[in-house]
Amino acid sequence: MLIMRGARINVMNRGDDTPLHLAASHGHRDILAKLIQCKADTNAANEHGNTPLHYACFWAHNLVAEDLVNNGAQVSICNKYGETPLDKAKPQLAANLKELAEKQGQSLTKVPFKDTFWKGTTRTRPRNGTLNKQAGIDYKQLSMLAKINENHSGELWQGRWQGTEIVVKMLHVRDWTTRKSRDFNEEYPKLRIFSHPNVLPMLGACQSPPAPHPIIITHWMPYGSLYNVLHEGTNFVVDQTQAVKFALDIACGMAFLHTLEPMIPRHSLNSKSVMIDEDMTARISMADVKFSFQCPGRMYSPAWVAPEALQKKPEEINRRSADMWSFAVLLWELVTREVPFADLSNMEIGMKSEQPAL
Ligand code: ATP
Ligand code: MN
Repeated sequence: MLIMRGARINVMNRGDDTPLHLAASHGHRDILAKLIQCKADTNAANEHGNTPLHYACFWAHNLVAEDLVNNGAQVSICNKYGETPLDKAKPQLAANLKELAEKQGQSLTKVPFKDTFWKGTTRTRPRNGTLNKQAGIDYKQLSMLAKINENHSGELWQGRWQGTEIVVKMLHVRDWTTRKSRDFNEEYPKLRIFSHPNVLPMLGACQSPPAPHPIIITHWMPYGSLYNVLHEGTNFVVDQTQAVKFALDIACGMAFLHTLEPMIPRHSLNSKSVMIDEDMTARISMADVKFSFQCPGRMYSPAWVAPEALQKKPEEINRRSADMWSFAVLLWELVTREVPFADLSNMEIGMKSEQPAL
């Protein structure tokens, strides 16, 4: 219930324990699975340098320890005292885990304790909420593998960062000024929302050399967007049950975004900005929120935009009501499996909505 209501998955207490540490210590295997499903950081280290696996091993919660290793927990991370999880386990468990880890291609070389281990992970400290000061990423750590798209707003690349499959969005901006650079640095940290399963966070950002290019990264979603799945997908069929599940996922994500005060500016709901995760969860993409310097005034996907939002100034619009309209268009799309206003150009859609009878 807490997760549904937007509790942060990787939140820490004063001892830097995450919920996963507690679930692992107490052997709550079902909760552990739920947290992992919500992308809890399996290698989070607390103030002692202990990871959840250290505790599962120490308390001999063998199945929990195996679940952790099967989900990326490393058996060779040292705590402050130089002990790995395997050092904490009884011999039989240690042997099993070692075998599991080797099967997964884990290196068994000890990873020395680092005080800043949590940096660059997806954990957030309660004190600064969603605004993590460590949001900046090192451009040199990004590997770009293939370009997947290029359009008016920029280039999209598939890549890797810190062992994670990601997409890199390089934004095209005319006249990159210090003013725009400052706006970028102020705006992107607000998009790093890790606390809701139906919101896809922007992982981090940087400005790439030599000519500064603003860059943002987000998780790679194997099925692409809801638009891809509904209108271009050949991988699988969205049956009625799945369509309803998508609608509920989107509603939960939007309900969470509507609790934010202030709300995220320049976010618009449409099927291109909803991504489908590998477990078929729909997630509202923060990487698709526009920055203040990205063609202000331009409507990107007008077919989903409420008529009043196409006509009035941003400050005159009730965003929550306008989102209801967009959600209704999405519901129509999920039921009919058709592209809304497919026969009209973006320009025509914008014009039509100015007439009273849309
Ligand atoms: P805009 O630039 O206004 O967001 P867009 O959504 O059409 O327009 P991109 O965001 O560059 O353009 O996305 C292009 C394509 O790349 C999409 O159709 C989508 O399938 C894919 N894509 C976008 N984000 C991801 C992601 N996180 N994981 C996997 N594929 C993605
Ligand atoms: Mn997009």
